[in-house]
Amino acid sequence: MITKGQKINDRYEIIKSIGEGGMANVYLAKDIILDRNVAIKILRGDLAGDEKFVRRFQREALSASSLSHPNIVEMYDVGEDNGTYYIVMEYVSGMTLKQLIKKRGNLSLSEAIDIMLQITDGIKEAHDSYIIHRDLKPQNILIQDNGEIKITDFGIAMALNSTQLTQTNSVMGSVHYLPPEQASGKGATIKSDIYSMGILFYELLTGKLPFKGENAVEIALKHMKNDIPSVRLENSNIPQSVENIILRATAKNPKNRYETASQMHDDLLTCLNEDRLNEKKIIFMYPEHDNEAEVKKTVLLEGTNLEETNTKEENILDDEKNKNTWIWILSIIFIAIVLLLVGIFIVYPKITEVPDIVIPNVSGMTVQKAENTLKNKGFEVAIQVEQVSDEKIAAGLIVKTSPAIGRKVKKGTTIILYESLGSTVYEIEDFTGKNYIEIKTILTTKYNLNVTIEKIDVENDENLDKQAIIKQEPAVGTKVSKGQKVTLYIPNIVDEYPNFVDEDWTLEEVQSFCDEYGVNVTFIPKQTEEFKENTIIKQDRQPGDPIVKGANLKITYAVKFQEETIDNETDTENSLNDN
Ligand code: ADP
Ligand code: MG
Repeated sequence: MITKGQKINDRYEIIKSIGEGGMANVYLAKDIILDRNVAIKILRGDLAGDEKFVRRFQREALSASSLSHPNIVEMYDVGEDNGTYYIVMEYVSGMTLKQLIKKRGNLSLSEAIDIMLQITDGIKEAHDSYIIHRDLKPQNILIQDNGEIKITDFGIAMALNSTQLTQTNSVMGSVHYLPPEQASGKGATIKSDIYSMGILFYELLTGKLPFKGENAVEIALKHMKNDIPSVRLENSNIPQSVENIILRATAKNPKNRYETASQMHDDLLTCLNEDRLNEKKIIFMYPEHDNEAEVKKTVLLEGTNLEETNTKEENILDDEKNKNTWIWILSIIFIAIVLLLVGIFIVYPKITEVPDIVIPNVSGMTVQKAENTLKNKGFEVAIQVEQVSDEKIAAGLIVKTSPAIGRKVKKGTTIILYESLGSTVYEIEDFTGKNYIEIKTILTTKYNLNVTIEKIDVENDENLDKQAIIKQEPAVGTKVSKGQKVTLYIPNIVDEYPNFVDEDWTLEEVQSFCDEYGVNVTFIPKQTEEFKENTIIKQDRQPGDPIVKGANLKITYAVKFQEETIDNETDTENSLNDN
């Protein structure tokens, strides 16, 4: 327990508690030697016994201390006093961006841009020093009364070249800001911070999170699959140039994102220029989804010049180009009609007229045998044998051909063979220690497996990583096929109250949460102009407190100052449903 007046290392005198996060508590303290206020972050006592957390904590100090930038909280000191691990840093008086959003709902366009300019500037500095933050969210960004931004909490930041960290690391930033590539286990790059900054920009402008869901996996899946909702639908005064910044930063395919934080910064600098306000919605260069990749590949195979595509200017067509586009479209339609007519009257009769040989049934043969059979008939066989999974035909044998078996084609045609992979789609790896959200997302989206999460009782060890897989079924090395069941076991740590305040829960969501857990919830309206209506401003059971069935929970939420009439009550009800 840290108490008021306590001295850490005979130097830092605790004044009061100013914040808490997942790993640590933060206090305002006085540095007696330098006679100045500082913020001191102290690793939670229950984690101080675990080497893993202590190392992570010390690494935080290390990551951030190499950085010097007006928009990054400055590190002063790091140390240990009798088993208490601490980091001393610049004290920032003000509030977190989360608190600001809670208070104001959404911010004005110019305010949001000003904040983002400072964040991108600070993050550029971190990236230039090969540090990825990985946990950019409004709770970790402080704003001073003069509007100056300070980025804090490099707790899970990562030096770019420490590869061993990505592999066994089950640490994940908040799922609300989670880049799709991280949700699917590809690890973080500087573009992951860019994604989180895009989500943050969305939140500043709308006061909302773009993706919500019942649980972490559902939210992670939305980051992978759903388009980000349009900020212009929320507020039509937001120009397209600003929405384009969000679209580009939050592109699913990292290739479509800004290359660097400073590119994003530069875009923010000019986005309100008169000549940019009506720019076109951005068009991505690279496919955003896996199935699009297929389409793109086929188009390229059919003769598009790859180099040309790559070097083409990325978006924003000016008027001149627009005109050209129309000319192009019309010409293409014309050519297509001509080709169709030629096809119907000239080519088609010719093809049908000279059907040379039927492709023999090679299905079920070995690749070698199929190849010989086809060659004997006078066909060519493509060198590249394609692989497909098939439930009926055993692995290694031919499933089908292209053109298809039974079709009549000319002698000498090149036939592509499709070899069966059997019904196996995936060989189970060792998931222990990995993040269950990530693994479930990969197994469901990539291999169509049916994944269930089960909680099992473990010895009550406070240091356990709640999201790390401790057991799995089937075992490592098992080959599984589509739809097959995989069970991932995570520790059954007593369910805890979430942070209703920080995580933007609506009153309805809290109600259904409480119904599910058998908790009696009372909603207490508080008249205030400080928060948007229906914002949850207080919960009397703290995040992390264990949930006990039958417990009472009090939630305080904001309502507007009521006029003397009672009519307003209906208003409150209505906007309650809006959320
Ligand atoms: P955690 O790693 O546990 O999330 P953070 O570093 O994010 O810890 O700190 C938790 C909270 O403490 C922050 O959300 C913020 O409210 C407050 N805080 C952190 N650093 C400072 C600081 N330098 N000055 C003032 N408040 C701070
Ligand atoms: Mg934090």
